[in-house]
Amino acid sequence: MIQVFLSLGSNKGDRLIQLKKSVEHIQHYAGNLITISDIFESKSWAYEDTDYLNAVIKIQSNLSPEELLSETQKIEKELGRSSKTNTKNGKPVYSSRIIDIDILFYGNKIINSEHLTIPHPLLHLRRFVLQPMIQIAPDFIHPVFNETIETLYIRCEDENSVKLFKKVHAENFRLP
Ligand code: AMP
Repeated sequence: MIQVFLSLGSNKGDRLIQLKKSVEHIQHYAGNLITISDIFESKSWAYEDTDYLNAVIKIQSNLSPEELLSETQKIEKELGRSSKTNTKNGKPVYSSRIIDIDILFYGNKIINSEHLTIPHPLLHLRRFVLQPMIQIAPDFIHPVFNETIETLYIRCEDENSVKLFKKVHAENFRLP
């Protein structure tokens, strides 16, 4: 069993329901839920769009990193996400998404393969990831930078606002 942190985001449809559904699916297909952050609302990062709801969860999983990616991608599809991030002139072109699941950390493993970069390469630049993450694991050490989440949060220069949207208790994070 390995401890994994996942970032969840939704800016389309009923955002809260999408997040709840994704947590249900993750528990079913990817691993046991250990902790969930509160839900935060943030401006769309790097492109103009409706605001996102974001959360970070910690799970315990028996899956390999590749299996985990495959499951999270299946869950994104099942919940109705139709398009992936495209690239134009080598730069990502982001689009609205019903649900986006990113693997932030897989234990303290460092992975750089064709389909997978772990720790997630942008997490230290994104306040919408660090703010929920600092709630549930401030002392977790980023294995590449060798710094705690708290330090990365303090150093983060992302000026996009990230506001508390809903307090969450793991035991009552259920679909209505
Ligand atoms: P996106 O459309 O932003 O969700 O990007 C998904 C693509 O990023 C997938 O095709 C993955 O192969 C790739 N990827 C690389 N590293 C990660 C990661 N740590 N978590 C999720 N997706 C990843």
